[in-house]
Amino acid sequence: MKTLRTVADVRAALTGPRQAGALIGLVPTMGGFHDGHLALIRRARAECDVVVVSLFVNPTQFNDARDLEAYPRDEARDTRLADGCGVDFLFAPPPEEVYPVGFATTVSVAGITETLEGAMRGRSHFDGVATVVAKLLNIVGPGVAYFGQKDAQQAVVIRRLVADLNFPVRVEVCPTVREPDGLAMSSRNLHLHGEERRRAAGLHRALRAIQDEATAGQREPAAARERGLAALSDAGIDPEYLELVSPSTLAPVEVIDGHTLAVVAARVGGTRLIDNLLITSNGAASAASQHEPTNARATGGAGAQDGRT
Ligand code: AMP
Repeated sequence: MKTLRTVADVRAALTGPRQAGALIGLVPTMGGFHDGHLALIRRARAECDVVVVSLFVNPTQFNDARDLEAYPRDEARDTRLADGCGVDFLFAPPPEEVYPVGFATTVSVAGITETLEGAMRGRSHFDGVATVVAKLLNIVGPGVAYFGQKDAQQAVVIRRLVADLNFPVRVEVCPTVREPDGLAMSSRNLHLHGEERRRAAGLHRALRAIQDEATAGQREPAAARERGLAALSDAGIDPEYLELVSPSTLAPVEVIDGHTLAVVAARVGGTRLIDNLLITSNGAASAASQHEPTNARATGGAGAQDGRT
């Protein structure tokens, strides 16, 4: 695996493979690798001829300077893990390579960015995400780009961006990988200590409680949400939001009909966590994979997965 620092080096490295017709896969990340990242990378490795992983903690998508400062960074460890997955190129640019002096362009996706994470973190969050993803797609020019269902709204925003701006790339959204107790893997989980780590699993329990209500025949979002809120309260968690929305538009649903996404965000101690679960109305489809997190080691290091879109 080769680590590249500049846009020019990425372009030079990919010219030959592109001319030879290679399928290039891109996995954009901010580092702090866990099995969620590695699942995306392994999928790219299995499906593409050349795998590029970008490692860039994008300052423009952080609305809180302390959050940016505290974001886990360990390039040496990430390099080892990426290399172990057979990545060809790790693109790890310094901030000034991505945002040189005079940088003045923002890509902004309207509508779907205004609710949930957009409402909580402010407009600049998804502007930062859309801008850096547009840049990465232009720099790498992949045939396929891989994202995680863990960040469900981000995935919807990126699909919109790619469609609206005609990027010639296929977007693949991969299932959420979870810890054995159901906590969605996240680089931020490193900040959870002792009691907080135990309580954090309450987010997934709340989503499961909503699924259980739907499985029992509940079609009223408000009633199902109450069950989720009760589970959060049992875990001592006061959510920023817990909503039942359309997986494609993120608008609130009026009935649970098999096309419903339960989304939650909450602070556990000082750590802000998000999670989501695709709710099935009869509880039959993919219930096992959604409900039974298994030990990551027992599933070949990929953890438990759910939320296929
Ligand atoms: P990040 O480094 O947090 O920006 O994440 C990089 C990519 O990994 C994004 O597309 C995320 O949605 C995805 N990702 C993060 N956590 C998980 C997870 N637990 N399972 C699957 N994908 C994930």
